Amino acid sequence: MDLGLTGHVAIVAAASKGLGRAVAEEFAKEGCAIAICARTAAELERTASEIEKSSDQPVFRQAFDVTRADAVHEFVEGVEKKFGHVDICVTNSGGPPSKTFLDISLEDWRAAVDQMLLSTVHFAREVLPRMQRNHWGRLITITSVSVKQPIDGLLLSNSVRAGVTGLAKTLANEFGPHGITVNNVCPGFTLTARLEELVEKRAHDAGVSREKILEGMNSQVPIGRVARPDEFAALVVFLASERASSINGSTIAVDGGFVKGLL
Ligand code: NAP
Repeated sequence: MDLGLTGHVAIVAAASKGLGRAVAEEFAKEGCAIAICARTAAELERTASEIEKSSDQPVFRQAFDVTRADAVHEFVEGVEKKFGHVDICVTNSGGPPSKTFLDISLEDWRAAVDQMLLSTVHFAREVLPRMQRNHWGRLITITSVSVKQPIDGLLLSNSVRAGVTGLAKTLANEFGPHGITVNNVCPGFTLTARLEELVEKRAHDAGVSREKILEGMNSQVPIGRVARPDEFAALVVFLASERASSINGSTIAVDGGFVKGLL
């Protein structure tokens, strides 16, 4: 299927590894110029070089924290300067700690809002006016299945990601008339470094093997296994394509059927 993405410029935030990296790789395979960021410069540099080598596409990279509005501004300006335009933006960040309500401080709440909601706002404020000028654009937010079905112990994610979903839906209404679609994608269990760490920690805490914990996760998913990052990336790239031009304001899970609700 021709996705019609060749020559487009795609920003993927928080993309030195995991879901972000998989999404950046997929855009590069589709012939897009890429711009990625993450906090750890060395890892970002390694990822950028590997994507350039495997795809032959240019990768603009800058190490910074997506919670910093000034850094996001500088980055998006740099992308536009290098490639001439910004067509696609995928927002992403790290996940918040797993805590129960009484263990969460006010500082934790503020950090979670900065990390997940305001980081998305920072990118949206930078890219949407640019896309508006070009009469075309795609903004895709990465959240979690927690926006469809709250996950025990992930109170910060359950609460703040709902705000990102509300933001995406509202932006879809506001910017649809300008040729811009805004959609939200929700990963379920996906085998990235973050999930590996979670598996190792649970195995350590329970005194069982990593395989045993992974087996437990697999059994919660109707397809019988957790997802691969490239399966998640396939949906993101499709949503960014011409083929998806009438999908707007949707929240779609890539979770193997994990969410038990109807929508
Ligand atoms: P990951 O493998 O840990 O990768 C996270 C990436 O984001 C890294 O490149 C990291 O690099 C970067 N990053 C983290 N915080 C950042 C910040 N403040 N500023 C800039 N870059 C930042 O995580 P993942 O599994 O891909 O998860 C991505 C998102 O999806 C997270 O919010 C996670 O909670 C959510 N999610 C994941 C799953 C899953 O099963 N994997 C399921 C549901 C939701 P640096 O650390 O160097 O900055």
